[in-house]
Amino acid sequence: MVEKKTCDRCGSCCLQGGPALHGPDISLLKAGKLARHHLVTIRKGELALQPFAEKPTPVTDEFLKLQGRRGSWRCLFYDEPARACTIYEQRPVACGLFDCTGTDAGTNG
Ligand code: SF4
Repeated sequence: MVEKKTCDRCGSCCLQGGPALHGPDISLLKAGKLARHHLVTIRKGELALQPFAEKPTPVTDEFLKLQGRRGSWRCLFYDEPARACTIYEQRPVACGLFDCTGTDAGTNG
């Protein structure tokens, strides 16, 4: 298997739900790059699709993530016709770490 080093811009991760936020993403909120209306709280026990999972499962801990768009979990910052992230330079840290080729942290996104 060939290891991928760059994003193919397939949009798969962006279409399956925006990322969960992590500690470093607080800087995006403080800088006004993300606002509260961009976020949704997933409560303990609610169903969520975890990376590489085939179906949603109940989450064990509460977390924040980016909102979906128009009743879907497609990330609200994903420009589907352009196959591009509209906040690429300010995207949450998880987007830059996600490796769609495996379960370890990678360089895609
Ligand atoms: S913030 Fe950008 S890279 Fe991250 S899921 Fe949304 S569109 Fe994709």
